[in-house]
Amino acid sequence: MGWQMAVGKGILIAAFVLCAATSVRAWWSDGHAVMTEAAVLALPLEVPAFFRAGGQVAAHLSIDADVFKNRRVPTLDNAEYSEHFFNLEYLQGRSFPARRYDFIELCQQLGLDPQRVGFAPYAIVEWTGRLTAAFAEYRRWPEDESIRYKCLVYAGFIAHYAEDLCQPLHATVHHNGKIGADGTAVGKGIHERVDSAPGRLGFTAQALAQGQEVAAFDSLMAGVVDQVVESNSRVQAVYDLLGRWDNADDGQMRALVEERSRRAVHFTASLYLTAWRNSEDIRLPGWLRR
Ligand SMILES: [Zn+2]
Repeated sequence: MGWQMAVGKGILIAAFVLCAATSVRAWWSDGHAVMTEAAVLALPLEVPAFFRAGGQVAAHLSIDADVFKNRRVPTLDNAEYSEHFFNLEYLQGRSFPARRYDFIELCQQLGLDPQRVGFAPYAIVEWTGRLTAAFAEYRRWPEDESIRYKCLVYAGFIAHYAEDLCQPLHATVHHNGKIGADGTAVGKGIHERVDSAPGRLGFTAQALAQGQEVAAFDSLMAGVVDQVVESNSRVQAVYDLLGRWDNADDGQMRALVEERSRRAVHFTASLYLTAWRNSEDIRLPGWLRR
């Protein structure tokens, strides 16, 4: 097979990958887009204007982490899958370390498979770190268009993982059915109904952004851990509505989805603000030219 044919085949595969719908554990794309746009809208004026005007780019990028979960790109699918959740109960109340490889080591000590526990806190902290570095470049080269785009791309990835983590079923072993003492799960299929709820209920970015008081985290990892625990504490509220997730007129269901969506907006915007503040202290390497 010639080089050109190989390239042509590659394009065909890429086109297939882009068309295939594979999302299993994630707010569906409409929900991610609207929450991300709201998070950008909710930011205070101290965040640069280009970023506050870039909500649509960040919203577009906030869906890509789910596009990567595709069996036709198996290596990526495998690496990506566990970035979207954290099964808190597996740690049985233990505190978890700030760095990904220390966490993997802890899991090994506890006899846990880290891919089954999940990596969402690390995905969030690492992508926030990437945005922090990109903001530092912006501070030095504020007119550089590529740096501005880069900031919004990274913001989209932060948004995806941060919003996922605020969906309670992304922070628990009971992620698709409440597991009883005998090991059977009650409520299978609930995950998809909760994931699709923000998109189905038609919230607007403006409404979700309204009244948000965004605050930077003193400690980024501590802020993320608090969010894991908070999300996990809302798992029972999700199961209390079992059988009611398809009724768009159910006021309690609507209220819970709105609460979770607003929480996701607040958490995401707080990560953006934290990245902006922390970027002030980043020292860029002397070899870097833009
Ligand atoms: Zn996801």
